[in-house]
Amino acid sequence: MLFHSTRGGDKNKDFASILMQGLADDGGLFMPDHWPQVDLEKIKGLQSFVEVAKEIVPLFTSSSFTQEETIKIVENTWHDFEHQDLVGIQTIENISVLELFHGPTAAFKDFGLQLAAAFFNEVLEKEDKTAIVLGATSGDTGSAAIDACRSYARIKSFIMLPNGNMSEVQRRQMSTIEAENVFALRINGTFDDCQDLVKQAFIQRDFLKPDQYLLAVNSINWTRIVGQICYYFFAYNRLANHQNLNFSIPTGNFGNVFACYSAFKMGLPIKTISVAVNDNDILHRFFATNDYSKKQVHETISPSMDISVASNFERLVYDFFLDRSTSKCAELFNNFPNQGIELDEATWNKKNALFSSSSVDDAATQAIIQSINNEHHYLLDPHTAVAMQESIKSSTSTDHYVVLATAHPAKFPDIYKKLAIDLSEIPMALKGLYDKTEYLHHFDANYDEITSFINSRN
Ligand SMILES: *Cc1c(COP(=O)(O)O)cnc(C)c1O
Repeated sequence: MLFHSTRGGDKNKDFASILMQGLADDGGLFMPDHWPQVDLEKIKGLQSFVEVAKEIVPLFTSSSFTQEETIKIVENTWHDFEHQDLVGIQTIENISVLELFHGPTAAFKDFGLQLAAAFFNEVLEKEDKTAIVLGATSGDTGSAAIDACRSYARIKSFIMLPNGNMSEVQRRQMSTIEAENVFALRINGTFDDCQDLVKQAFIQRDFLKPDQYLLAVNSINWTRIVGQICYYFFAYNRLANHQNLNFSIPTGNFGNVFACYSAFKMGLPIKTISVAVNDNDILHRFFATNDYSKKQVHETISPSMDISVASNFERLVYDFFLDRSTSKCAELFNNFPNQGIELDEATWNKKNALFSSSSVDDAATQAIIQSINNEHHYLLDPHTAVAMQESIKSSTSTDHYVVLATAHPAKFPDIYKKLAIDLSEIPMALKGLYDKTEYLHHFDANYDEITSFINSRN
């Protein structure tokens, strides 16, 4: 299994290359050359999440790792989870809530990033090299990346946090880490400023040692998607008795939705993928009105979904809408975001076969949190609540909805204070955060100052 770019200019790459490279040379996103198929009967009979992952992950890694190597990595990858199955499943009326927040940073991003980090380390060991991880985060990616990489001495992580809409818990998860290879940089600027600095660093690379890798941990890294595909098959393992499975997904950069779509292409029977967004509604505008155009970001109470463009969406356009035409995809995305995307009517209408979408504002999100808490004594985090609405409307005894619970509510304590709801349960991962010392390195959005700091610590 080799990989190629959605824009056609970068192809025949093996797994290790696209892992370490992140973005394709032509600006596109890497895709597998074909969709491997999964034996559903086999999946049904497996006992654990890791057993499921051992069926899925090797399908994508065989160009660089033997089956035995991959299985060994998979068996040792996911660590510090508080739930014995890694994933929890709760039932609320006729809806299943897939709890993906039992990992060490209390959001689903631990699944993808722990897998990516384990493979990063494997490549670095094989080649006897070191790497710098450089990322920008507005929410949960940074802490999951830091946590996933901190135990690997060959990797140093530098994560930039903007001044902006991030909960104090989220910030403290990054700033209170005591490890010699982890640095949290507080940037006096916006998330977009931080992303621009990361982009510039990937072009200039002037602060790296010879032979050192610069690794991207953003959601376009294919290995993150692979880690996430695993939990859709695990959901099937546990819920296969339901006639029709539908997944409702709190969505920002579209990584989670694309993992769900990938599982569908690999044989998972899914009726509807429901894309749920907050007021940052570029994806809802696309699915509802065929308008994919960039607008300004609004701050909401579900900050990890506050995006202006959804980076993984290009993969869906390429595979699902354009039937893998790299030339058409390049034409659309080389001009984006300067020019918005509108598909021709027949192409756009393909969505009706698999997708629905909704945009839920802060007031409605809070109302859902309140009502589910009152009626079912179950506390939704604000991201999960955004995806709950459509499930409540659409789940029936024959049409079963699975809502992805992407973060633990305790990451966002201010919201519950405002709603006068007690946060009774604090996961181990978040305990004691307020008593710890913060180690933040403050910078203006200045490339030279930031890279000379990286240099001094490298
Ligand atoms: C990152 C994140 C999302 C958005 O996921 P995407 O894969 O970027 O669409 C939703 N909820 C939470 C809690 C997140 O951390």
